[in-house]
Amino acid sequence: MCEFCTQHGEGRKWYEVMQNYSAELLNDKARQEYIRHFIPNVQKNARTNIAKLAWIKNHFPAVYRIIRRLGTKHMKNIHFGQVVPLEDAEKIIEMVQSITRVACVCRSVSAGKKNGRYCFLLGIDPYGSDIDFADLQCSLETISHAKAKSLLREFDQAGLVHSIWTMKTPFIGALCNCDQDCLAYKLQVEKNLVEMMFKAEYVAEINSKLCTGCRRCQKICQFQAITFKHGQCSIIEQKCYGCGVCRQACTAEAIVLHPKKILAGGCSLLVENSAADN
Ligand code: SF4
Ligand code: SF4
Ligand code: SF4
Repeated sequence: MCEFCTQHGEGRKWYEVMQNYSAELLNDKARQEYIRHFIPNVQKNARTNIAKLAWIKNHFPAVYRIIRRLGTKHMKNIHFGQVVPLEDAEKIIEMVQSITRVACVCRSVSAGKKNGRYCFLLGIDPYGSDIDFADLQCSLETISHAKAKSLLREFDQAGLVHSIWTMKTPFIGALCNCDQDCLAYKLQVEKNLVEMMFKAEYVAEINSKLCTGCRRCQKICQFQAITFKHGQCSIIEQKCYGCGVCRQACTAEAIVLHPKKILAGGCSLLVENSAADN
């Protein structure tokens, strides 16, 4: 279990707790304000902030370590994610009142792609509020629970990683489907600048008796968590985010997801490579 399960999960996975999707939380004025300006803020600041952080990391490592610690703490309070496999993403869809498909702000900022509609707002009615969608307004689409699940399966087939996101923690306001253009991926995995999301509550395993060594799983894994040796693939457990997308790439059905062991203190590891910077 991650630390959010301890803080917001009532002894369960925190994203299985209905309260974390509630209208009561959503109606909080400060949260409404945060959501209203979320997209323009990301569009305006994300690229500059990433560049600044990378520069500080290179030139002033001691200062960077302090900023990283404070930045992670700040993100945990306002906008933090967790990877979830397809089956948990489908359960989340069942728990929410409404789903709105919207263009992906990360892909717009990091790759200039404004039409990639991979982001689902959960419980947030964009028509009944004054959220500032900036130039993503035309992408809005209210979708049924069945359509959302069908899209999730399609995204899973395409190797996109599902994750949930808080809008002022603990309210869960988005379910995302990401490739490596995701800003969280860039910040946490690619550039190792700051933590933005927990790994899933699972880890993958390959059955060596079934693996044919085709390497399809290795190609689809966004986290370089699969290694190839002696004609077979195996999982590097410390790198695995538990997203589960490698499973559908494997026609030999050699890959399974296991629930992660609970570590002492009840928290799962965030990113194994963050230790290198501390
Ligand atoms: S988290 Fe993923 S789906 Fe959501 S906006 Fe970013 S890249 Fe798009
Ligand atoms: S996709 Fe399946 S069979 Fe192919 S290398 Fe990976 S685990 Fe082995
Ligand atoms: S090895 Fe882990 S991180 Fe990579 S695709 Fe499979 S479940 Fe996801």
